Amino acid sequence: MKVFITIDPDTCVGIGKCEEIAEEAVELGDDGISHVTGVAVDMDVARALCDGCPTGAISIVEEG
Ligand code: SF4
Repeated sequence: MKVFITIDPDTCVGIGKCEEIAEEAVELGDDGISHVTGVAVDMDVARALCDGCPTGAISIVEEG
């Protein structure tokens, strides 16, 4: 199952851990925080992103 994620810009601290986990889904911006690319990812990848974010900024928002 593919799902989408969101990143809360007020919670993200720009460590970039998420980009290491799924660079196709997340990119660290020039503004110092990460942004979603809009690509759907497998549920296990989405869970790894949520679990891997130290500030809990990433949420799963839509199941496809
Ligand atoms: S892992 Fe979390 S806090 Fe770090 S850049 Fe990604 S969304 Fe932001």
